[in-house]
Amino acid sequence: MSQGNLYYKHSGAIGLMGPVYMLVFGVVSAVILGAIYAYLIYYIPFIYLNFFFTLGCGGIVGYLVGLGAKLGKTRNPTVVVLIGLIVGLLASYVGWVVWLYALTEHQALLLMPNELLQFLGLIAVDGVWSLFGWTPTGMALYAVWALEAIMIVGLCATLAWTVVNMPFCERCTKWIDAEESIGPLAPIANPDELKAQLERGDYTFFDSLKKNTDAESSHAKVSIRHCPGCLQAFFLSVKSVAVKLDSDKKKEEEETTIIENLIISSDLHRRIKAQA
Ligand SMILES: [Zn+2]
Repeated sequence: MSQGNLYYKHSGAIGLMGPVYMLVFGVVSAVILGAIYAYLIYYIPFIYLNFFFTLGCGGIVGYLVGLGAKLGKTRNPTVVVLIGLIVGLLASYVGWVVWLYALTEHQALLLMPNELLQFLGLIAVDGVWSLFGWTPTGMALYAVWALEAIMIVGLCATLAWTVVNMPFCERCTKWIDAEESIGPLAPIANPDELKAQLERGDYTFFDSLKKNTDAESSHAKVSIRHCPGCLQAFFLSVKSVAVKLDSDKKKEEEETTIIENLIISSDLHRRIKAQA
């Protein structure tokens, strides 16, 4: 069996309403959040906070695009990411327009790209804000602006995709939201070997699942998604969680995926559940 048939893969179906919901949710939220974002960065000029506002703007808009994809049952990564990028670009654009509107004390509402770029070019000559006594102008300011736009657009597309990155039951035409978790289990000594084992259909690993007595230390997690409608679609994921203490003695968890959404049988599901 080739790798492609072992794991769950989106069918590529777009769904009639998917793009409509994605665009409606996306465009409305991009306009509203892009405007709020512009006012936040205009009135609260603290670079650290601005960073979080940027993440928030791209993230929330992207999440709503993803919800549209989920509601419209879009199982096509390309379409979801593409609409995420377009909507992210719109949010960023609205951000510029409203920010300039605030900057000019509500005198200039420049909607056309050429007017907007011309005005931004004028601002870039002298710069508009300073950080640690440094006022970026010219190319440096353009670079900051570009980075900000890339963050919004990139995060928007990523979040949109994350929302629908889960198996879908094509028989019942439903997303498989619910996930059963088994763990914490004893850490996996050789993840590559386990992956190879599971991929060739050797499931002896599940015959003696060892619980990890200390959930605070590094451990492994097994999770299964299954369709409750037809009881025919079962997908297995195994993750390794490394627990470390950072420099402030704060617990830090790092998750590594060993396998994700491996197609399994209902028998194996029962076998694993009996061990859990
Ligand atoms: Zn089903």
